[in-house]
Amino acid sequence: MTQHLMKVSNVPAFLMHAMQQEDYIVHDHAHIVDPMALSKVTALVGTGSESKVDRNLLAMLPQVKLVALCGVGYDGIDLEAVKERGIVVTHTPGTMTADVADLALGLMLAVGRRIPQADRFVRNGDWVMESFGMTRRMSGARVGILGMGRIGQAIAQRAAAFDMQISYCSRSAKPNLPYAFHASLETMASEVDYLVVAAPGGAATLNLVNATVLDNLGPKGYLINIARGSVVDPEALLQALKTKAIAGAGLDVFWDEPRVSPEWRSLSNVVLTPHIGSHTEETRRAMADLTMANLRAFYARGPLPTPVPECKPST
Ligand code: NAP
Repeated sequence: MTQHLMKVSNVPAFLMHAMQQEDYIVHDHAHIVDPMALSKVTALVGTGSESKVDRNLLAMLPQVKLVALCGVGYDGIDLEAVKERGIVVTHTPGTMTADVADLALGLMLAVGRRIPQADRFVRNGDWVMESFGMTRRMSGARVGILGMGRIGQAIAQRAAAFDMQISYCSRSAKPNLPYAFHASLETMASEVDYLVVAAPGGAATLNLVNATVLDNLGPKGYLINIARGSVVDPEALLQALKTKAIAGAGLDVFWDEPRVSPEWRSLSNVVLTPHIGSHTEETRRAMADLTMANLRAFYARGPLPTPVPECKPST
């Protein structure tokens, strides 16, 4: 039987192609208006970072029983509303861990060693007039990771290869890991050179990195955020960067993506990337494959490969 799906965000071309190959009819939330079509939709698909699924949307979709996300974060999904309706949410954990961790290390090097500025220096022909200013050593420095899950641990592994001293803050200590645990983010911030955000977005982590945390990170400290913009208080970060209360920031995620206000663009002590943590061909294919596996299992009434923890069947 032909199944009707609805996109709730842009989806990667690999995934769109795979869904069309399997004869799913994919409606677009932005264009679907026919109530008859809405009543046929049984699953929603979208990316982890852009999808917003709330009660109002679900009220228009009486048959939906699955939200299949191509991404790991699911902070845009109203979990209470989906669970009340018996809808299951799936995501693609693990597929992008290495890429996001790679980018975190890339941003740490870029902001500390000022790689984008050095590139512009050479391109502008400034080198013939003067030598490039001093930068900061990353090897052997102290890194504190907020969120020691899949991505946090992959960042720690990479940081270890740079002989960095590694500590972390998460909801629970991980006694099996050889890194120092901090129950307090404020305390950890005061003891590190790089503070890397790898915790999920959502109400529980909103503005967790606030003015106090940034003050504690101090004028020699760098903030790296590869997780969600919402975890960092934007006004506090802007102020800290403008006043040099911290040394700099490397940001892959923002508060109102893809709109990034000119204030950020004009700062010289930030490196900005457009949410490209998982943007490699290899990872995008793996994410699309796992999303398809979840869709296939759902329509075959089999066990879903990767439901989000809140939707896992109780054992
Ligand atoms: P994960 O394995 O679920 O790990 C999340 C970690 O965050 C866990 O260690 C958890 O602590 C910690 N945490 C959760 N709530 C917290 C809180 N309130 N305070 C402190 N720590 C908290 O997730 P992951 O796969 O590593 O992904 C992490 C996040 O990265 C995703 O949620 C997503 O938002 C983001 N992401 C970004 C990109 C990108 O393109 N830039 C790509 C993929 C993912 P416990 O272990 O103690 O529970």
